[in-house]
Amino acid sequence: MNVTRQNVTVVDHPLVQHKLTLMRKRETTTVKFRQLSREVSTLLAYEVTRDLPLTTTPIETPLAEMTAPALAGKKLCVVSILRAGDGLLPGMLDLVPSARVGHVGIYRDPESLTAVEYYFKVPEDLQERLVIVVDPMLATGNSAVAAVSRLKEAGAQQIKFVCLLAAPEGVAQFQSVHPDVPIFTAAIDQRLNDHGYIVPGLGDAGDRLYGTK
Ligand code: URA
Repeated sequence: MNVTRQNVTVVDHPLVQHKLTLMRKRETTTVKFRQLSREVSTLLAYEVTRDLPLTTTPIETPLAEMTAPALAGKKLCVVSILRAGDGLLPGMLDLVPSARVGHVGIYRDPESLTAVEYYFKVPEDLQERLVIVVDPMLATGNSAVAAVSRLKEAGAQQIKFVCLLAAPEGVAQFQSVHPDVPIFTAAIDQRLNDHGYIVPGLGDAGDRLYGTK
């Protein structure tokens, strides 16, 4: 059973927890890290879509007619916060291949740790879709807060946020600005260090995904 408290769901499925441990390990290679990232995000996609509304539709099986369940309404939009968010996209799209995809480019100023936007591209009909924002690390929360604020400005009305790891500081910051946006994560770690990294964490998610360090 997942633990859901104050709009934060910690997905405690054993496969998620085991794969996350492999991702944390220093010796895990880029290839393996990427693969695990895809696998865990598929499992997180399963959880974050759990309450999608259903309707019914008449169909014919080879044997009989029936009224069968089908997803209601417009499809989803997955929004990746560049660049590490892209590591969670393939797994999300494995499960929801028809989802639209948006990108928000935000970097953390290394001195102030504040969020600076450099790219924003999302579908026009955002207000009609469930928007799932993905970023592996909810650290200070600044990038996530800025991304969700921009998406709301662009019309998004229903937003959920998915990450692999969260820091308590990031959760608090995010919820102070966006209490209406549920967070889905595989774990909440101990703390942030002075450089804004999650401890014990898994290091720099972007560098580990792309082998840039
Ligand atoms: N971003 C990362 O990639 N890792 C952290 O620990 C914090 C932010």
